[in-house]
Amino acid sequence: MKLKGKFRKRKNLVICPICHLELSANDVNINGLVVCPVCGAVIEIIESEGQKIPVVHNVETKRPQPLFRLHTIATHFSIGLLPVAMLAQIWLFFARASGELLGNLDLLLPMCFLFLSIVLIGGILTFATGFVDWKRKYRGRNYEIITRKIRWSIVLFILLSFAIFLFWIELFGWSFLTQIFALGVIAKIGHLGGFLVFGK
Ligand SMILES: [Zn+2]
Repeated sequence: MKLKGKFRKRKNLVICPICHLELSANDVNINGLVVCPVCGAVIEIIESEGQKIPVVHNVETKRPQPLFRLHTIATHFSIGLLPVAMLAQIWLFFARASGELLGNLDLLLPMCFLFLSIVLIGGILTFATGFVDWKRKYRGRNYEIITRKIRWSIVLFILLSFAIFLFWIELFGWSFLTQIFALGVIAKIGHLGGFLVFGK
């Protein structure tokens, strides 16, 4: 609990009084205001006796919706296909280990390569649609949640590119290990995005 307390202090958290989303006090604009990305509350953070007090001044009611929900649609290429590709690799591994190479089993290799490539393309599409939503719905404002999503996305692109490269040069074990990390990063980015959908 102590560690958690320190962690929270470092992130400079403020709770939105309306929807209870955790916001970072670092996200205030030059006027000292922050607009809650979930409920649109226009919040000023005032300091009183060492306490950060969020004061709601207004609510932003006119907000563009995410572009055709493209961000959530695009992310399913990556969320859906990566586990399928990984399961196929596990299956291939055990089939080869048991020496039962049946007929077209080797077709699985180019299929996995194709799936991994679609996962990367899906990731790039997801990033692009998320970026458009950030500029439209969130008006390109600073939000720690979105900054963290962008940073983790860069990590994901590096991991996926590396996994595809390792697969291509037939270092399948190392590629698989990299894919496990990539899957974890996808889950992390999705979890962060969940705050913008469900609040907290
Ligand atoms: Zn809110």
